[in-house]
Amino acid sequence: MKRLLEGLVENNRVYTAGGKVASYIPELGKANKDSLGIWITTLQGEEYFAGDFEERFTIQSISKVITLMLAILDNGKEYVFKKVGMEATADAFNSIINLETKNPQRPLNPMINSGAIATVSLIAGDGRDNTFERILKFTRKITGNPDININEDVYHSESITGDRNRALAYFMKSTGVIENDVEDVLDVYFKQCSIEGTCKDIARVGAVLANNGVLPWSGERIIPVYVARIVKTIMLTCGMYDASGDAAVKIGIPCKSGVGGGILAAAPGRMGIGVFGPALDQKGNSSGGMRLLEELSKELDLSIF
Ligand code: GLN
Repeated sequence: MKRLLEGLVENNRVYTAGGKVASYIPELGKANKDSLGIWITTLQGEEYFAGDFEERFTIQSISKVITLMLAILDNGKEYVFKKVGMEATADAFNSIINLETKNPQRPLNPMINSGAIATVSLIAGDGRDNTFERILKFTRKITGNPDININEDVYHSESITGDRNRALAYFMKSTGVIENDVEDVLDVYFKQCSIEGTCKDIARVGAVLANNGVLPWSGERIIPVYVARIVKTIMLTCGMYDASGDAAVKIGIPCKSGVGGGILAAAPGRMGIGVFGPALDQKGNSSGGMRLLEELSKELDLSIF
């Protein structure tokens, strides 16, 4: 397995050259474009890794998987999906157009920015620091890593430049989707995106989902089966934004990307996978990471279809 992963990383590193590191959040622009790494955690507890798996990165939109779980745990699925839809989009992750033209009362899904900002507004707590503390605590638990924290530089960088997300959030406040203080909700959202980890951390989230909500390393259940099932389904249909169909055909398992270059994948009943490659394609997904997952899926016959 180790040799297979090393070969796949080296064969697919070439695809990082065609991508671009995200720079609309200035701090992310400092990432090393050629990096590519992978970590696998199987449900039997084996761990395999190759390439630049030790590099730290901010999980960005991968955090949307975690906040969706918490929002459902806090509110129940009926209420969450009354506020946020579950339909895929053919537009970019930060698109504003559907909010007005489709349904101003309901962003399309929790994996795009509008839907994720609405989702985090539903999480219990004081709406700001204490709400974020709950997200951080849950992240530490689901990764099995008590040292998980935010990258302060990335948080400040996004907070200063996040005007597109402010536009989405204020629009949703005007239509009643967001009921709390908008700046508080955005602060929590910017912090969740700045949570920092490695391929191992996101692979472990994938392993918990692949294991239907039970931590494979301790046997403890942290989310009910129905929550794991909803989250995996929405990852498969919406997790790679307007490339979700492409990813479903080529990779065939639930995946969620972030503009930091990470991709979390869950192969049901088998393993969690964490991939990192900060050079992104035009849709904001890791270009080397997508190819690496595609080949891994073929090699290990991971597709659920
Ligand atoms: N923090 C990023 C943003 O809101 C997350 C987007 C992403 O990872 N696709 O723009």
